Amino acid sequence: MRYRVVVIGAGFAGIGMAIALKQAGIDDFVVLDRADDLGGTWRDNSYPDLTCDIPSQLYSFSFRPWRWSRRFPARDEILAYLHALIAEHGLDPHLRFGRAVAAAEFDERRAVWNLTLDDGDTLQATALVCAVGQLGRPALPDIPGRDRFGAIRALRAERLAWLDVRPEVQEAFNSWVASASRTSVWESGCHSWYTTASGRNTNNWPDHTFLYRYRVRHFDLAAYRVRPRQPAAAGASAA
Ligand SMILES: Cc1cc2nc3c(=O)[nH]c(=O)nc-3n(C[C@H](O)[C@H](O)[C@H](O)COP(=O)(O)OP(=O)(O)OC[C@H]3O[C@@H](n4cnc5c(N)ncnc54)[C@H](O)[C@@H]3O)c2cc1C
Repeated sequence: MRYRVVVIGAGFAGIGMAIALKQAGIDDFVVLDRADDLGGTWRDNSYPDLTCDIPSQLYSFSFRPWRWSRRFPARDEILAYLHALIAEHGLDPHLRFGRAVAAAEFDERRAVWNLTLDDGDTLQATALVCAVGQLGRPALPDIPGRDRFGAIRALRAERLAWLDVRPEVQEAFNSWVASASRTSVWESGCHSWYTTASGRNTNNWPDHTFLYRYRVRHFDLAAYRVRPRQPAAAGASAA
């Protein structure tokens, strides 16, 4: 199959490109994505309270402002925005999911891109747009002993998508820090630059280093809320 344009990736970049092609009057194109839905980053990540860290007015296309419910919108709202764009611009017929591009080679003599998908299928394109993102493959730092770390072991053994400290556990910890800090050198006299304007210690460990060492080495899964991993989508790679 030959197309005028093939776009790889149905995240913000790929969708923006697809809209631009439509606006330029080009209809002979497809957007390929290895996953089973659009959204890229915002599809793949679902950890609790995932929100955009820049103001929503800036995290939207200039040609399509959106009525965001808050300044830093949540993941679901961003995904809804992308789905709305697909509907508004009639992009559905151009999207192909479960299509992972394994190789792309430019044939200079024929001036055509030859694409090979991971299932062996092939496609040709006059123009190729690579919108594959850069944060789709989590990179774990290569720290010695990494695989013995309790949280990483739990993620693998329990097949978890994420884990996050339970709010009540966090609150209990914060209260303990506040009460233990009261007798520490940072809070026992004149105002210290280690504390906030309201006198709260947010920086210093208020106990022995032995306890600190124990606390950071000891992992208790019961202190976390978790979500099991979903089965991998067809065509999705190990990203
Ligand atoms: C957890 C997280 C939070 C973030 N939060 C923010 C934020 O708050 N503010 C901000 O500005 N940015 C944030 N980013 C950055 C975010 O990635 C970009 O803002 C933007 O969404 C990237 O869009 P993209 O289309 O370039 O790439 P992506 O969203 O990564 O989309 C790329 C798409 O290409 C597909 N793909 C990749 N390789 C292939 C292949 N070989 N074949 C077929 N399909 C393929 C992928 O499946 C994916 O759907 C965050 C990133 C992460 C990971």
